[in-house]
Amino acid sequence: MMNKIGETNFKEIKRISPSQFYSMKNCAYKSLLAEAFKKKPLLPLSPNAYFGTVLHKMLELIAKGIVKSEDDFNAEFDKQVKALEEDLKQKGFGFFVPLKVKLRNFGLKKIQLKKHLRSESEKITSLGNIKFVSEKWFESNDKLIGGKVDLVIENGNEIEIIDFKTGAITQDCLDDEGEIYSDVKNEYKEQLKLYAYLYFQNTNKFPTDLSLVDLAKQKFPVEFSQQECKSLFDEAKSLLKSTNDSIKTKSFSANPKQENCKYCLYRPACSFFHKKLETDFSFNDVLGEIKDVKKFQNGNVSLFLQNGNMNLTIKNFSEEEFDELNRNKNKQIRIYNVRNEAKEFVYSATDTTIIYE
Ligand code: SF4
Repeated sequence: MMNKIGETNFKEIKRISPSQFYSMKNCAYKSLLAEAFKKKPLLPLSPNAYFGTVLHKMLELIAKGIVKSEDDFNAEFDKQVKALEEDLKQKGFGFFVPLKVKLRNFGLKKIQLKKHLRSESEKITSLGNIKFVSEKWFESNDKLIGGKVDLVIENGNEIEIIDFKTGAITQDCLDDEGEIYSDVKNEYKEQLKLYAYLYFQNTNKFPTDLSLVDLAKQKFPVEFSQQECKSLFDEAKSLLKSTNDSIKTKSFSANPKQENCKYCLYRPACSFFHKKLETDFSFNDVLGEIKDVKKFQNGNVSLFLQNGNMNLTIKNFSEEEFDELNRNKNKQIRIYNVRNEAKEFVYSATDTTIIYE
């Protein structure tokens, strides 16, 4: 139950993918940690993120024409969900299973996916001379940037690059007058522009359209100029270089703040984040020295941590955890994925709570 992290052996990142670029720009240290831990997360993903991989795989199979009929769809979808559930159980996340019950919108997302099936099949049969290329790998001449494009539609001189997203594509933004408007997320815009430049390096032609398509089959065009794509491409390469250089100089560029760290699965290995946790109590993670452990009559266990002058209470541990917590009294620990309770400095353990020493 008490997890440990050994020494972090940083390794050079050989290649950056367009989908990774934005995250690397926000915190290059996260990319270095991911590489050091062979892209094996140190914390569980949310069940929605796991399910997202199934949705994306299904879109890929539909785009490739492997899943054509509704029967194909149902059989493949059940197979994918079953495999994911088995994997989750093996990882010790059996509490996410069955996904059908545990995930809100499971049924809705399945119905939305099916809409892709019908329309994509119709498109392919009715527009026979258009070339659909799905899941095509493109990399730069120097191999430093590379990634798989979900779908390229080539119709004479018209070339469209499409990326499928299973979550929200837009976000609310504020205009100069303070009015809220909705716009495609910057990370997705930049990802597509990098694909456009990779396509150009491989074919000597720029795509004419870049689009994002969501589960509900809504299409969001992304405007671009060739110059913009080239600038982002150069920026990505120089970011990769400076990130790799930081391993030698040990002057890492980390950016610990809520929007970067909240979903970072390498938080347990990040000293910058731990420093932040010493004074910032807004995260769903806490650290401190174990001062006391109490077992209540109903079996619930509470843990009392001291972080500097602050006393933190973490409730809702199970009875089985009492002995180990008690054995580790006076030890400095970090607890990830707790729930903030209404009362200040009081938290609760959840299904995904993980302790690192
Ligand atoms: S925890 Fe935050 S600062 Fe640390 S690597 Fe992750 S995103 Fe960067």
